[in-house]
Amino acid sequence: METKTRPYDELLTLLREASLLGGTASILSWDQETMMPSAAVGYRAQQMAQLSGLIHRMATDPRIGELLDRCEADDDMTSDPDAAAILRETRHHYERATKLPAELVTERAEVRARAQHEWQEARQDDDFERFRPWLERNLELARRVADHYGWEAEPWDALADGYERGMTAASVEAVFTPLRDRLRELLATLMDGPRRPDERFAAHELPVDAQRAFVRRVAERIGFDFSRGRLDESTHPFCGGSHRDDVRMTTRFRPDGFLDSLAATMHEAGHGIYEQGIPSELMLTPIGGAASLGIHESQSRMWENQVGRSEGFWRWCWPLVEEHFGSAVDGFTWEAAHHAANVVRPSLIRVEADEATYNMHIMIRFELERALMNGSLAAADVPDAWNERYREYLDVEVPDDTRGCLQDIHWAFGGFGYFPTYTLGNLYCAQLFEAACEQVPGLVEGFARGEFGPLKQWLNDNVHAHGGRHEPKDLCERVTGKPLSADPLLRHLEGKLRPLYGV
Ligand code: ZN
Repeated sequence: METKTRPYDELLTLLREASLLGGTASILSWDQETMMPSAAVGYRAQQMAQLSGLIHRMATDPRIGELLDRCEADDDMTSDPDAAAILRETRHHYERATKLPAELVTERAEVRARAQHEWQEARQDDDFERFRPWLERNLELARRVADHYGWEAEPWDALADGYERGMTAASVEAVFTPLRDRLRELLATLMDGPRRPDERFAAHELPVDAQRAFVRRVAERIGFDFSRGRLDESTHPFCGGSHRDDVRMTTRFRPDGFLDSLAATMHEAGHGIYEQGIPSELMLTPIGGAASLGIHESQSRMWENQVGRSEGFWRWCWPLVEEHFGSAVDGFTWEAAHHAANVVRPSLIRVEADEATYNMHIMIRFELERALMNGSLAAADVPDAWNERYREYLDVEVPDDTRGCLQDIHWAFGGFGYFPTYTLGNLYCAQLFEAACEQVPGLVEGFARGEFGPLKQWLNDNVHAHGGRHEPKDLCERVTGKPLSADPLLRHLEGKLRPLYGV
């Protein structure tokens, strides 16, 4: 027995060392976004490069491969669920880290850096032709990378698997197509509806200091533990940090952007509550984190949308709004805030999109990048294909490529396969939330009394407690009893938006 467990213990030790160093690097990245003086950027870049090189060497140590082989051949290991999950995750990451030839990794890094620079210039000058050759090179590299990883149905799958385990283009299409078709119908119905929600509160100016105190209070109330985390400010809100007891999230403030700050804070707090809920016994192992990017996003979206845009939430927090902002909110009511938080408007820019139309932006990108990877769409034809879909799905005219196909950085850094995780997050979110409502009586009614503990506890028990033990689709089936479907998200959007638009 002793000789059998020894390789597993040695493997866990090597993985723990790499994980400790990874957590250290995360704190440095957080610092870079929030606190670091701007002149420090040069040395910090060298420090980060040194650290990531070291972490990569540790993660690709051939000894890990040898130990994995031995553990996988050991029935005691593979019959223990946690050990089996740890071996599965380690195998996945080790294979992906070691399958690419060094020259390809270097070439990809160089092309990506150059492509991002060209994309920035192209976006600024509305000059797609400038970016086109770099998009082509990124695609060619992405296909080579996919071939090294290996794929069955189509090359996109090999890249997507790096962002969301088990995700394939076919599985995404199966949920996205019904979502797209029914969302188009819903949007058309809403836009033709007789009523419009009251938008006045959306851009109402409020003092930033009071906003800062207010959003912190909400984050605390929904269950973010400030003794194990922080809330700071950065241009683009994010949630990072080192581990479950040191979660660093950020938000941003603008006098006329109160609802944006609140939504961003609740979103990042959702990510943070997930991290804080990972069981300590899983820490520093390959399953001591989220199940996937999509599941992570389901947690942030739930607090942002299912809670933060609900009627109950606004009924509860309006007296607090009045307490924090005083006469600055005179003339407004909780209904006005609830309306302003739920306006739907088809638009051009993904990152500014509302809860309902956001998913259309993602589906358009998915359809295009899948076609690009398969070679059925040429890079040169992207602007036309993009504009056509925006016309068809969102009924908006794209005036230029800056506000069209050049708006996102993802294809410039070669991140094909990433976009769907955003909408998968919304889908997982709605399905998990329905399950929570079924299992916890009075859950939504409690929001109006400021009772968010039951939802947090349910998420702790059903999602967070598993860490990365299960692949996302397995976790979804386990918790909700059903495979992922578009129905819960559509029910959520229709149930909320139809009354607001009088349809
Ligand atoms: Zn997020």
